[in-house]
Amino acid sequence: MDSVETSINSAGNNKKVNLLGYDLAHMKEFFSEIDEKSFRAVQVLKWIHQSGVDDFAQMSNVSQDLRLKLSKIAEIKAPEIIMEQKASDGTIKWLMRLDGGNSIETVFIPEDNRGTLCISSQVGCALDCGFCSTAKQGFNRNLTSAEIIAQLWIAYRQLRIISSDSNDESKTINALVKKNGVKRDITNVVLMGMGEPLLNLDNVVEAVHLMLDDHAYGLSKRRVTISTAGVAPALKRLGEECDVSLALSLHAPNDKIRDTIVPLNKKYPISEVLEACRFYFNGNTKKKQFIIEYVMLAGINDSEKNARELAVLLKKMPCKINLIPFNPFPNSGYECSKMQTINRFKDILHKAGYVTMIRKTRGEDIDAACGQLAGKVIDKSRRVHSVSVTH
Ligand code: SF4
Repeated sequence: MDSVETSINSAGNNKKVNLLGYDLAHMKEFFSEIDEKSFRAVQVLKWIHQSGVDDFAQMSNVSQDLRLKLSKIAEIKAPEIIMEQKASDGTIKWLMRLDGGNSIETVFIPEDNRGTLCISSQVGCALDCGFCSTAKQGFNRNLTSAEIIAQLWIAYRQLRIISSDSNDESKTINALVKKNGVKRDITNVVLMGMGEPLLNLDNVVEAVHLMLDDHAYGLSKRRVTISTAGVAPALKRLGEECDVSLALSLHAPNDKIRDTIVPLNKKYPISEVLEACRFYFNGNTKKKQFIIEYVMLAGINDSEKNARELAVLLKKMPCKINLIPFNPFPNSGYECSKMQTINRFKDILHKAGYVTMIRKTRGEDIDAACGQLAGKVIDKSRRVHSVSVTH
């Protein structure tokens, strides 16, 4: 979080502060620093996140003098959309260019009763999970809170454009819009895109505050999910600063297997991670969900013995289990388990008393399937990047 003063002084050239990523506390601090009343923070927050405004001149209930003052020292700046792709199943993928030239992807997945936005928290990822295409890119940098919340801000604006394309006159950002029978509103946000959210905790927490704030997006904590590979100490801190649903990318029933596919396990073994999850939920999963993510890799973690072992491991954890058919990518070295094997795995967990789902693959015709979002982007230097999102 940079203050107004530091932003202006450190740049030495009146660099404007970007208010897009400021949560309410940060926004109030900003207005206090420029000697304005704190209720202005709520007004501006609503304009940015509920009305999707990026121009102070449009903030009609803010005095003209203040609008002018704001336009001189601040801005509302989101990444630029460089590609939008729509799949036949309604999935939409946006490719966005960040300052400095990196790109990230954000994906909207509409279903009958909900719309889920999958967003990224880092450019690339340092954790090097063996089955993950993002890992092959290595780590580039953390996203700022503005870049994280911008993915939601942009998606709302774009979906509104789609809705007006379909002759829907609604200008309300949270409006339920249907096009071709598919609901277009965003009801759920998952931080399951590129990167490990808990290794960018400050910025993720500030963006999540905005997702939950009734002055911004007002999503319930049940409908915002942070996905982690298991950064145990950060999980404990997350519990103190933020209160949302959690998805643990477990992918193995024991340390021996997990060490080989999730290298972070060597630092934070399963027992430590599950203990941190227990601490995070503190016995309360009524208002938020705990999901165990388990990618199905043929011959690696998909045997009946593995399923039984998983059932024992998760005993007394109030969780649901999501089985994810692996989506192969070039040189991954892994294959997806057979559907018959996945169903058998599911049955064993189901009989052991776990709510177990098999994740459907979405957006295949635009490479938007979770874990495999590989968009080929040609940058100005004509090099070909592979931009992928997974977790
Ligand atoms: S699965 Fe998630 S944590 Fe692991 S390398 Fe990929 S993005 Fe990073």
